[in-house]
Amino acid sequence: MSNLCVIGTGYVGLVTGVCFADLGNKVICLDVDEERIDKLNRGIMPIFEPGLEQLVKINTQSGRLTFTTVHASALEDAEFAFIAVGTPSGVDGEADMQYVRSVAEAIADNVDHSIIVVNKSTAPVGTGDWVTDIIRKRRGGKPLDFEVVSNPEFLREGSAINDFMCPDRIVLGCTNHDAANQVAKLYLPLRSSILITDLRTAEMIKYASNAFLATRISFINEIANICEEVGADVREVATGMGYDKRIGHSFLDAGLGWGGSCFPKDVKALAHMAVIHGTHPQLLQAVMEINRNMRRMVIVKLRRSLGTLDEKIIGVLGLSFKPNTDDVRDAPALEVIHLMQNEGAVIRAYDPQATENAARQLNRVTLCKTPYEVAEGSDALVLATEWNEFKELDFQRIKASMKNPLIVDGRNLWDSDRLTEIGFTYFGIGRGNHTVNNHNE
Ligand code: NAD
Repeated sequence: MSNLCVIGTGYVGLVTGVCFADLGNKVICLDVDEERIDKLNRGIMPIFEPGLEQLVKINTQSGRLTFTTVHASALEDAEFAFIAVGTPSGVDGEADMQYVRSVAEAIADNVDHSIIVVNKSTAPVGTGDWVTDIIRKRRGGKPLDFEVVSNPEFLREGSAINDFMCPDRIVLGCTNHDAANQVAKLYLPLRSSILITDLRTAEMIKYASNAFLATRISFINEIANICEEVGADVREVATGMGYDKRIGHSFLDAGLGWGGSCFPKDVKALAHMAVIHGTHPQLLQAVMEINRNMRRMVIVKLRRSLGTLDEKIIGVLGLSFKPNTDDVRDAPALEVIHLMQNEGAVIRAYDPQATENAARQLNRVTLCKTPYEVAEGSDALVLATEWNEFKELDFQRIKASMKNPLIVDGRNLWDSDRLTEIGFTYFGIGRGNHTVNNHNE
C-alpha cells in the first residue's frame, strides 16, 4: 500500500484517485474547488461517469479514499503527488499551464520529505523539466528530494474506470529510472504493458496518440464528403477498410467530427508547439479544418431542404460531446446550435445527462425533457450525439408531431430506408445512395 495525493478531481483526477484506492492504496484527492470537495464528501459526484459513484462510495467507506482542499494535510504523508488539473487552450491554441504551475508551487510549499511528482495532465513537451524548475526555484535554497515522472492518461470519458483498470498501456517518462519503477509498481496489479522512456518522449506519446485518432476521424469524414458526391456509402467503406488488419475498425465513424475536452485542445496545442519550434504542421491544420467543416455541413444539408433557417424550429438530440458523459466542452452539438442560431433558427434540445452543463453555455435554447418533446412542432431534427437512448425511438410518433419530417442524422445512427419509408426526408453523413430521399418526390 502506498500513500498518494491526487491533485485535481475532474474526470482524470477523480477516476485516478478512486481506482488507485480500489487497488488498495491510501489516496487523498485534493481540489481547490471547495464546492466540488464538499459534494464529494457528501457522496455527490461532481461529474457523470458510469460506475464512479459506487466505486467512490466503497472506497470512502473503507477509509482508503478521502477528499480535501488543504494542501498541508493532503501532502503530509504522500509518497506520490499526481497532477491531474486542466490544461485548456490558451488564446493562441497553446496549452494554458497556469493550473499545473500552481500545483507545482503548492508542492514546493507544502512538502519537506522525498516525493515523486507524477504528471497526468496533458501538457506540452518539456513540461516535466519545467515543473522541476518551478519546484526548485520556489524552494529557494531549501533542498527537496523529488523526481518528476510523466504519466500521460489515455482514459476515455464514458468508460473511464474500465479504461483505467484495463489500459492498453502505461507510459512513464523520467530522467531517473528508479522513480519510474516506483510509479510502475503502483500499476503492476493492472498487468498492463508498461513503457518507460524519457520525459519528453512520454509527453509526445500523448499528443501524437490524440492527434492520430483525430486524424482518423477527419480522414473518414473527408472520405464521407467524397462518398456523398460520388454515390458511395461511407459506413460500408469504413467497414471494408477496417477488415484490413493494418487499418482496423476503430475511429472510422463519419459524422459531425471530434470534440470534447481533449482532441480539440490537444491537436491545437500540438500544432502550436510545432509552429513555435519552426515546423509546419500541415496535416494537423487540415485535420482541424475538416473537423470544423463537418459542423458547417449540417447547415448546408438543412438549407438544402428548408431553404432558409430563419425562424425555423430545429430540434437537437444530444448535447454532450459523445455518449455516456455529461461533458460539453467543445461539443459538436453546441457549435452546430450556434451556427443554426446565427441563421435565425429557433432551437429545442435534449440530452440524457448533459443538459445542466449545456445550459451554462447556451442562450435562447428550449431544453426539453424527452426526445419527443424536442420533435414537437419542429421543422427538422438533428442528431448530434449517438446516445443509446436515441437508437430505438418511436419514429411514427415523432413524424406525427413534427411540423416538417426532416432528419439530419449527424452520427449515421439510424436506418435511412426505414425512416424514408415512414415518410422522413433523411440526410446522413457520407451516405451517397441514401442522402436525399425526399418523401415529396
Ligand atoms: P477537469 O477540468 O475535469 O478537472 C480539473 C480539476 O482540477 C478541476 O476540478 C479543478 O478545480 C482542479 N484544479 C484546478 N487547479 C487546481 C489546483 N491548483 N489545485 C488543485 N486542483 C485544481 O479536467 P480533466 O478532464 O480531468 O483533465 C485533466 C487533465 O487530464 C487535462 O490536462 C486533460 O487534457 C487530461 N486528460 C483528460 C482526459 C479526459 O477524458 N477528460 C483524458 C486524458 C487526459
